[in-house]
Order: sequence, then structure tokens, then C-alpha cells
Amino acid sequence: MLTELKAQPADKILQLIQMFKDDPRPVKIDLGVGVYKDATGLTPVMRAVKAAEKTLWETQTTKTYTGLAGDPAFATAMAGMILAGAVADDRIAAVATPGGTGAIRQALELVRMAAPQATVWLSNPTWPNHPSIIRYLGIPMREYRYFDAESGAVDFDGMMADLDAVKPGDVVLLHGCCHNPTGANLNMVEWAAVAALLNRRHAVPLVDLAYQGFGDGLEEDAAPTRLIARECPEVLIAASCSKNFGIYRERTGILMTIGDAGLRAVTQGNLAFLNRQNYSFPPDHGARLVTMILENAALTALWKSELEEVRLNMLTLRQALADALRAETGSDRFGFVGAHRGMFSRLGITADQVERLRVEHGIYMVGDSRLNIAGLNAQTVPVLAKAVAQVIR
Ligand code: PMP
Repeated sequence: MLTELKAQPADKILQLIQMFKDDPRPVKIDLGVGVYKDATGLTPVMRAVKAAEKTLWETQTTKTYTGLAGDPAFATAMAGMILAGAVADDRIAAVATPGGTGAIRQALELVRMAAPQATVWLSNPTWPNHPSIIRYLGIPMREYRYFDAESGAVDFDGMMADLDAVKPGDVVLLHGCCHNPTGANLNMVEWAAVAALLNRRHAVPLVDLAYQGFGDGLEEDAAPTRLIARECPEVLIAASCSKNFGIYRERTGILMTIGDAGLRAVTQGNLAFLNRQNYSFPPDHGARLVTMILENAALTALWKSELEEVRLNMLTLRQALADALRAETGSDRFGFVGAHRGMFSRLGITADQVERLRVEHGIYMVGDSRLNIAGLNAQTVPVLAKAVAQVIR
């Protein structure tokens, strides 16, 4: 049987991590993988998470199974953080999932079960796992224009023109904030126009919310999701706690559906069914930490201050990089880096130039010129700006 397997194409980002590790040069910069790093290059455990873990260790009396949907308290806490009362609680069904990826996978499985004829629409570009999972599940897929490489901004007219071809019942995947890989995001007026278009077309939004708190702030980053939740009759939300709680390996995420209150019980049963088929009970440790933090005022305050520090650190680096690129290149070509939000920006340089950054300067970024802003620090910003100026000359 195993002889029938064909080699899978290597994951480009994981390949990049390996090349970086194998690079013997003393000065090298890793801007590849999407993990937050502080100024010393560490991905720290947040103090609020440590505090919750300590309490959990001291007070947890059993590790018996939770429910198939995970602990309902986690769903309540997450609905509070993401939706903040934007829709009535009795319209929300939810299951805990292994990370945001698990939530996306379960959302797509739900789509395939409920609407096998639906096409799922993706932004071009998007996080590569989106098309990869959709293809694996055999779901029809189409792209909508999203990024204008020339200006580094959203191609809003192109996006709206493409989404005009969406059929009733189709699903449109939207990055709730901090678009990966481009860093370019819609403003609230544009979000309202997208919601109206989806309603006109009777399409269902699937919001991928993986970076709440990494862009303009915890509440600000949830505003588009809340708007969509208020405006659209049916919404799927796949949220991740990996980044904003820094608990990547704990695999903590949630899939929420919003729909008619009368459909809630059956929807909830189907979500639990999907968990049962795929892995039975979802992981609990990370979800429990998140619940403990969100239910305790002191821990919430500590976590929010740590998250804000992370966000402001990335904003400072963004501005420093935009300034340094302006100084080194003598042009405003990369001004968009300061306007982008989240962990990533796409520089818009060629694959050859990305390759030269790696070979000549020991600077590693994804081939589409996506860079992880958090991989930088005050010392490496000028090094990157100089190197970029050299390779585009
Ligand atoms: N969506 C997007 C756009 C992401 O960038 C990520 C993380 N790289 C995820 C979802 C899911 O992350 P995780 O499964 O680690 O929670």
C-alpha cells in the first residue's frame, strides 16, 4: 500500500526554515515563518498564559473528556471577545477546534455537507493552506482579485467586480483583519459594501480571524467581523488563538456559525458530529487557558497589555522599515509598509530579488516577497532596507 504514495511537494515556508537553520553565516535574518518574535528573537509565553497555567496546574482535578464541542465556557468567552454582542447568543453555534486551521477545515467540511454545489471564493493571494485544504476536500474554488502590487493596497474595484459573479449559496472567504500575506486591508466603508454585495448575491461569508489584536487593536480588528455578523443572515467564523495568546502549539481555535435561531440546535449537532468524525474531542488545554484569561478581569487586563505591547512593537518596526526604505531607495515605492497592518507585508519585489536577498545578504523571506515584520528588530531594519535597495537597483 505505502508503495502507492507519491512524494508531497515540500512546504515552502518549512523549507525556508530549514535553509535558514543550515545557513552558517553569523549574520542572517529570518523573515519567513509567521510567528511573533520579540526584539531578542524569542517567541515568549505570555505572562497571563503562564499565570493561568499555574492556577490550572494547582486547581485542575480531572482530565476526563470535555464535550464534543469543547467546554461551552470557551465558546462563550470567544463569542464575547470576537462578537461582543453584535448578534443574539441564540443565533451562535460553536465548536472548539485544533487551532485556526482546524476551524477552517471544519468550516469547509460543513460547507461540503450542507451545500456540496457551493463554490468557495478566495482572495488572490491568500494563505496557501486555504486553497490546499479546499482542493483536498474536492470543493469547487474560485479566486477574487484582492491586491494591487503596484500600489501595495487592496484592489477594491477588482475585488467587487469579481465578487459580482458569486452565485447564491457560494461561500466567500475573507480575512477578518491583518490579511495574510499582503498586510493590505479593507476600510470599514469597503467592508460594508462587501457585506451588502454578499447579501445581494445570497452568498455566505467565511471569516478567517487569525490575528485579532495584531493590527489596529483588539476591538478595532474585530469590527469588520462584527459588521459582517450584524449584516449577513448566515456567517461562518474560523478564529485562532495561536497568535493573540501566543499559544501556537496548544492548537486552540474555534468555529462559530451565525444563523437563524431556529436552526441553532441542528447546526450545533452537525458541528459536534464533524468533530466526532475527525478527532472526537478537541484539545482542551489552550482553550481552558484562554477561557480563564477572558473570565478573570486581572488576567484579561494583563493579557491585553501584553498583546498591545506586541502590536505596538510591530507597528514601530513597520514605520521604521518604511522610513529606512524611503531613505535607502530615495523613493516612496515602499510607503505602503507603514500603512499595512498585521504581521506580514508583501514587498512586491521579484522572486529573483528575493533570492538575491537570501544568497547575497542572508535575508530569508517567502518567494512572493512576504516578510514577517516581527522577524525584524531595531538593528536589522537598516540592514534589510540597504539590502532591498541594492537588489532592486
Ligand atoms: N489563517 C491564517 C490567515 C493564518 O495565517 C493562520 C496561521 N498561520 C491560520 C489561519 C491558522 O493558524 P493556527 O492553525 O496555527 O491557529
